[in-house]
Amino acid sequence: MDFELTEEHKLIQQTARDFADQKIKPLAAKMDKEEKFELSLFQQMAEMGFTGTVIPEEYGGNGAGNLALCLILEQINRVCASTGVTLSVDCSLFSGPVRYFGNEEQKKKYLPDIAGGRKIGAYALTEPDYGSDAGGLQMSAVRDGDDYVLNGTKAWITNGSIAELFIVFARTSKEHKTRGISAFIVEKKTEGFSVGKLEHKLGIRGSDTVQLSFENARVPAENRVGEEGIGFKIAMHTLDGGRIGIASQALGIAQACLDDSIRYAKERIQFGKPIADMQAIQFMIADMAMEIDAARLLTYRAAQLKDEGKPHSKEGSMAKLFASIVSNKAADNAVQIHGGAGYTKEFPVERYFRDAKITEIYEGTSEVQRIVISRHMLAD
Ligand SMILES: Cc1cc2nc3c(=O)[nH]c(=O)nc-3n(C[C@H](O)[C@H](O)[C@H](O)COP(=O)(O)OP(=O)(O)OC[C@H]3O[C@@H](n4cnc5c(N)ncnc54)[C@H](O)[C@@H]3O)c2cc1C
Repeated sequence: MDFELTEEHKLIQQTARDFADQKIKPLAAKMDKEEKFELSLFQQMAEMGFTGTVIPEEYGGNGAGNLALCLILEQINRVCASTGVTLSVDCSLFSGPVRYFGNEEQKKKYLPDIAGGRKIGAYALTEPDYGSDAGGLQMSAVRDGDDYVLNGTKAWITNGSIAELFIVFARTSKEHKTRGISAFIVEKKTEGFSVGKLEHKLGIRGSDTVQLSFENARVPAENRVGEEGIGFKIAMHTLDGGRIGIASQALGIAQACLDDSIRYAKERIQFGKPIADMQAIQFMIADMAMEIDAARLLTYRAAQLKDEGKPHSKEGSMAKLFASIVSNKAADNAVQIHGGAGYTKEFPVERYFRDAKITEIYEGTSEVQRIVISRHMLAD
């Protein structure tokens, strides 16, 4: 494997870095405080081409690919993890099922609006009683003529109140657990669909997380993605890719922790010299740099495998698991290096510390990643 980024990838990385610093960074603390995503940023990200990164040109995207998306997400998450996850869910989790399992009509109808940022996408798998055990989900989809009638509640849905398009997983058969689930594209305007309570969170507070409710919501049968019963397969395939996005998020947060720690350690004087001169601080910086490098290599490898159309489930889980551990440790070190100042809102490391935790929870907890990795290792 060639570990050197191409000139094109370097340009994408630099463009995303500049955009993140100039447009997103100034709004990050405000979004965190007000628990509200700044929608104008989404349109700007679309104009930059970010929303079309993994969508082929024939459907309005630019097809730059998964490694490109990973580089963009890393840079955005470096300044704002709330904006990072908003884009990641839109790109990977909504468009993935349509791109890989949708028919031609569905791709033509839905992907251009996602690529162009005219509509935001969301992914609704989790339910109040079915999180890690998503295969047990109970939301029902009953066929009635040319429609399916959906009933149930989805929990923790990122982009839930700002999205217009949802990929929703519901049970079409009670006889089989995971093979009784199907996937549907649901439009916000659907009668019987409503957005419920907004979650008030520890971190990524600028990201929109809500419950969704379906009461006799009629979805045309033509909006079913793939055959009946393959919904769980679609959900898991999608998360295999989405986890690379969360690994990129963890990586971006960790890099911000390192950058801010180096800056502060050089400025802060104690005992007559910068704290950067003290070995205890130097060793923390050394560990952070080493671990971030390792996480970056795992993450880029997973993205490149996906770009090459090769299996990447184990590698995506490894990247997410490791990068999330690195991110939380880096955030802990960053607050420690900032001392009391790091425990206040005067410095963004306080936000990084809160934001890092989610990378160990969503798109499969760290325990679930270990289940995925060990299954691959122990398979015959
Ligand atoms: C901010 C946020 C945004 C989210 N966005 C989305 C979204 O857009 N779409 C969506 O569908 N979902 C979303 N989720 C849901 C998320 O994916 C789930 O929270 C996650 O999968 C864990 O499920 P749970 O919260 O029900 O925890 P549980 O499954 O109840 O787990 C609780 C604990 O038990 C452990 N555990 C469970 N089963 C096992 C096992 N077999 N072995 C070992 N340990 C186990 C878990 O690892 C965890 O530590 C989001 C969640 C949050 C917090």
